Amino acid sequence: MKLRVQVVIESDDEDAEHRSAVHVVAQIDRDALSVDTLGLQLEEAKHLLQQVQAALIDEQVRTSLAEQVACPDCGRPRAHKDTKTIVTRTLFGTLHLRSPRWHQCSCQPQATRTFSPLIAALPERTTPELRQLANGWRASLVLSSRCSPMAASRTGTNCRGPTCR
Ligand SMILES: [Zn+2]
Repeated sequence: MKLRVQVVIESDDEDAEHRSAVHVVAQIDRDALSVDTLGLQLEEAKHLLQQVQAALIDEQVRTSLAEQVACPDCGRPRAHKDTKTIVTRTLFGTLHLRSPRWHQCSCQPQATRTFSPLIAALPERTTPELRQLANGWRASLVLSSRCSPMAASRTGTNCRGPTCR
């Protein structure tokens, strides 16, 4: 048996030439049912998550850039200057995104000569979900270090908190 996993991306733009795009992100082959072949294996699950994440991010970046390339005042496309890489940390890994820099349109006075649409859209380099999880880990580490036997012997007290019982 072959299981093919596809991501279908549907455009919100009703005038788009291609309203949907299909990407095959994984193919899983299985022989007879056994405890070894039941469901997903860890490596398959990791690969599947990575491929779905890549397809989603590629589309989000592509759509965001396409929406911002035209000058909001005159509609002319902004000229490309160069491309840099920005790094964003997520719960599922660190992303290295190619970030174009465009010249500002000359039709209106601008505060800067260039414009980086991805940096404008992603001003922070860590997702809120990862920050929240990291803060939870830090709080757990602090609590466990305060409640450890070594900490109690240093301070001469015993922690009586609910997590130390
Ligand atoms: Zn313009």
